Amino acid sequence: MAQLSDDCFAFGGALLPLAEAQARIADLHNTVSGVEDVALAESCGRILAYDLSAAIDLPPWNNSAVDGYAVHHADLDPNVPTDLPVSGRIAAGGAMVAAPRGTAIRIFTGAVMPEGPDTVMMQEDCEVTPAGVRFAPGIRKGANQRPVGEDVARGAVALAAGKRLMPPDIGLLAALGIEQVAVRRPLRVAVFSTGDEITLPPAPLRPGKIYDANRPMLAALLRRLGAEVIDGGILPDNVDATAAALSAISADLIFTSGGVSAGEEDHVRTAIERAGELAFWRVAIKPGRPVALGRIGATPLLGLPGNPVAALVTFTALGRPLLDRLAGATYVPPVRFTVASRFAYRKKAGRLEYVRVVLGPDGASRYPKEGAGVLTSLTESDALMELPEAMTALTPGELVPCIPLGLLYG
Ligand code: AMP
Ligand code: MG
Repeated sequence: MAQLSDDCFAFGGALLPLAEAQARIADLHNTVSGVEDVALAESCGRILAYDLSAAIDLPPWNNSAVDGYAVHHADLDPNVPTDLPVSGRIAAGGAMVAAPRGTAIRIFTGAVMPEGPDTVMMQEDCEVTPAGVRFAPGIRKGANQRPVGEDVARGAVALAAGKRLMPPDIGLLAALGIEQVAVRRPLRVAVFSTGDEITLPPAPLRPGKIYDANRPMLAALLRRLGAEVIDGGILPDNVDATAAALSAISADLIFTSGGVSAGEEDHVRTAIERAGELAFWRVAIKPGRPVALGRIGATPLLGLPGNPVAALVTFTALGRPLLDRLAGATYVPPVRFTVASRFAYRKKAGRLEYVRVVLGPDGASRYPKEGAGVLTSLTESDALMELPEAMTALTPGELVPCIPLGLLYG
């Protein structure tokens, strides 16, 4: 085969577009995590296993949204103040009272609406008189009351299967009277670093060595996403040792970092081909092009690039959807905010680029150190600016999508 240029190495002359890589992940994988019941209080961050339907209406009763007086709207004169006697009182937690026509009921926030009245006047808009209460004209029918089932109607799906439970979800389920939830078991995820230069403290840094950044970073990302992390350690730059270690690990998913480019000392792709099967290699994104998806036996493996920024970007773009798929979570892409660029930028067409930016009131500024190995470009910037495949030039003032980095960390 003729020698092809670097950008045309695989897949009929083109790198795999990110969207296609993501589609392939979804096609090739399905939920592997089992189901367990946990107490609601223990369920934050866990993944809902089944659709959860409401057994009650929320709110369970028509109730008042304010402190004031419940009235029949038809009893009020639309043009001049109306005087009504007060025929009863109800506070939050009390049982429903009746309200004869032509009377008002003293009512407090959260109290069940009396039988009959359809509107609540805020106490600030009422004047207490010797005979009762005087109401200002002009209130809308139905004002200041919260209808039964307004939030969730009985029988409706309150939360869908695959939802990663966040604090407001816990609040919703608690309000529905739920004590136990069926959630997915944590995915068991093995994480390996690769490279003869990678070492660990407390060993001193011998010449040419660096400390491992990726494995702790990936383990932290994975734990925040609810995975159980299996530490695979550091693999040497040797294909036999790499293939043997990947084959020996027992996990639901394997991540490696480094050793996945086209260099002579990059052995992850060959190890995948030897011990399993490669699904794709090299995706049209920057940073992060040398990324490989495959499997070792039945266990999916994503080989992330070695440079830490590239490892984080590819984890976000491909690792997270893969993890979610296997863990039974619905993958929701991070929200993009449209921000004005404060800088000009040139890029190659045909690949998606993520530029680290600092956000300010006037828009997004480029983080000055752009190397894919510069960890402070992640710790000191705010967002990834996403420059679409087709774009070749970005001009200052142009509106572009940005993903806040915090959204990537679960
Ligand atoms: P590689 O793809 O193995 O050639 O790695 C690309 C760059 O990332 C090299 O400079 C590596 O030293 C660096 N690198 C690889 N793995 C790690 C790691 N676990 N922590 C920090 N840097 C790494
Ligand atoms: Mg390496």
